[in-house]
Amino acid sequence: MSFNIAIDGPAGAGKSTIAKRVAEELGFIYVDTGAMYRTIALYLLRNQVDCEQEQELAAALEGMEISIAYENGEQQMKLNGENVTGLIRTEEVSRMASRSSAKPIVRAKLLELQRSLAARFDVLMDGRDIGTMILPDAQLKVYLTASIEARARRRYLEQQEKGEQCTLEKIEKDIEERDYRDMHRATAPLRQAEDAVRIDSSYMTIEEVVDKIKSLAAERR
Ligand code: C5P
Repeated sequence: MSFNIAIDGPAGAGKSTIAKRVAEELGFIYVDTGAMYRTIALYLLRNQVDCEQEQELAAALEGMEISIAYENGEQQMKLNGENVTGLIRTEEVSRMASRSSAKPIVRAKLLELQRSLAARFDVLMDGRDIGTMILPDAQLKVYLTASIEARARRRYLEQQEKGEQCTLEKIEKDIEERDYRDMHRATAPLRQAEDAVRIDSSYMTIEEVVDKIKSLAAERR
């Protein structure tokens, strides 16, 4: 049987950096489910789909094929065969992903893809509902969080490195709005699974969090 690690938590808690590192060190496949929602969002933006219009959204989902590939251990997102990995990290896509992921029909589209990866491989999957909905039987569940201030500061530094112009206040506001939407939506809201280990990374280094998760995984294997 495959060994599954679920990592959930709000935007900017360091999930993807940490999950990638832990997966690499354990020899697991890293599955970034946020990237899947972002890929759908990119399609919706490109095609000017109004995700509040149910029929329009359903038709759009029919027309898109989302798949995942790995190149040098890095997850690549394919949208109707096109590699869109480099196009899904903009703030515009973030906002659309947050809005459209609240729709049950969008979540349903990704459920099978996510579960089938976990059934076939040892995976470390990160997202919002992995421990609560997608992989309720994961051998290890982590809820990784950090204060809004710490998360905004990290994202601000990331954006600056990429040369993108943004203020700290704007990032904090975006994070707050996304948290609120992710936590208060009717379908698969972000919350800590009862059997998840909570880690607050506000005052921890990446290495400390990585080591903590690795030791939890070792205890359960
Ligand atoms: O983690 P990331 O910021 O890339 O996710 C983008 C958006 O996709 C999130 O704001 C969230 O609304 C949505 N998402 C989700 N469920 C997941 C992963 C991401 O709803 N499992």
